[in-house]
Amino acid sequence: MLRLPVFKFHSPKNIAEAVALKAKHGENAMYTAGGTDLYPNMKRRQFTPQTLIGLRELSELQMINYKEGLTIGSGVSISEVARHPEIKKNYPALAKAADLVSAPQLRNMGTIGGNLCLDTRCNYYNQTFQWRKALGFCLKKDGDICWVARSSPICLAVSSSDCAPVAVALNAEFSLLGPEGKRCVPAGELYNNDGINYLKKNQDELLVSIHIPPSEGWKMNYKKLRRRDSIDFPILSVATVLSIDEDEVCTEARIVLGAVASCPLRAFESEKMLIGNPLTSKLIEESAQAAAKLAKPMDNTDMGLSFRKKLVPLFVADAIKEALEK
Ligand SMILES: Cc1cc2nc3c(=O)[nH]c(=O)nc-3n(C[C@H](O)[C@H](O)[C@H](O)COP(=O)(O)OP(=O)(O)OC[C@H]3O[C@@H](n4cnc5c(N)ncnc54)[C@H](O)[C@@H]3O)c2cc1C
Ligand code: SF4
Repeated sequence: MLRLPVFKFHSPKNIAEAVALKAKHGENAMYTAGGTDLYPNMKRRQFTPQTLIGLRELSELQMINYKEGLTIGSGVSISEVARHPEIKKNYPALAKAADLVSAPQLRNMGTIGGNLCLDTRCNYYNQTFQWRKALGFCLKKDGDICWVARSSPICLAVSSSDCAPVAVALNAEFSLLGPEGKRCVPAGELYNNDGINYLKKNQDELLVSIHIPPSEGWKMNYKKLRRRDSIDFPILSVATVLSIDEDEVCTEARIVLGAVASCPLRAFESEKMLIGNPLTSKLIEESAQAAAKLAKPMDNTDMGLSFRKKLVPLFVADAIKEALEK
């Protein structure tokens, strides 16, 4: 049986206290929300924080406010995001992504904030300490080589959050609180294509809330590939948001690929091909081919590399077509 390492646990009463505690304990401390990802990772010694700062008691992180768009506190559970009537009605891609996370128990415990800050994953990293030690460890933790691409100077672990690509496609903005104060960043600017430094934020910064603009006129979809239709992480995903005017012309398009790199990838070229045009099947398929060029999946997650690569254009085209049918 894998056991948790010894750590001290703090349960702050407000977000200012949480951030102050994190700053005080520095890199020896981590935030924990639902703990559904962090605790298994700690059991495998991927993280060995001496101090954990629990976020579950913080009522400031628990709200959902549907006014001038949607604001969700980072401590709201994934289950709540999946079943909330306003989210289901106005942001169905987000509700669907949340509903496809893992399994019911983990969705009840896991939070949207933890999901958006989720560690990147790799077959050579999400293993026990003994397994990794036998191999000689790797760049991401305790070692100095990447087993997936030995000449790679950076870690290529995979961004595996279901909600992150949707947040980027929905033009969400994240509100962060750190020792230096509060700041807001567009979702697309939080993520970094580096398996180790996958978030462009100071480690002490707490994700407080997620704001998504009003969705009037948006058609949206989220599509996820995984081996089993329960529990499994995505090994390819597509989030898309489109606006179509009364002449059937596309006026706005955002297409984001998940689980094919260390961060969600926005397919800007494909979006440009769609905007200003009626969305015929031919154009959708051409734009999907352009999006697929971005995806360079590595052999470090489930299912074969060439199979995952081949599926990208089909998945993107289907995601767009299904969004238009809604
Ligand atoms: C078997 C299994 C299957 C899973 N399947 C999926 C899946 O299909 N899709 C998927 O997306 N995820 C999956 N997960 C991962 C995880 O369960 C979810 O992503 C969950 O939403 C994480 O939320 P949490 O609150 O439990 O995060 P935690 O485990 O508490 O934290 C995760 C990370 O985020 C940081 N963090 C948490 N909250 C904040 C905050 N407010 N501000 C700053 N940093 C913060 C923590 O320090 C930690 O680094 C799976 C996990 C397991 C064990
Ligand atoms: S991509 Fe390379 S460095 Fe990153 S976790 Fe996997 S083996 Fe380690």
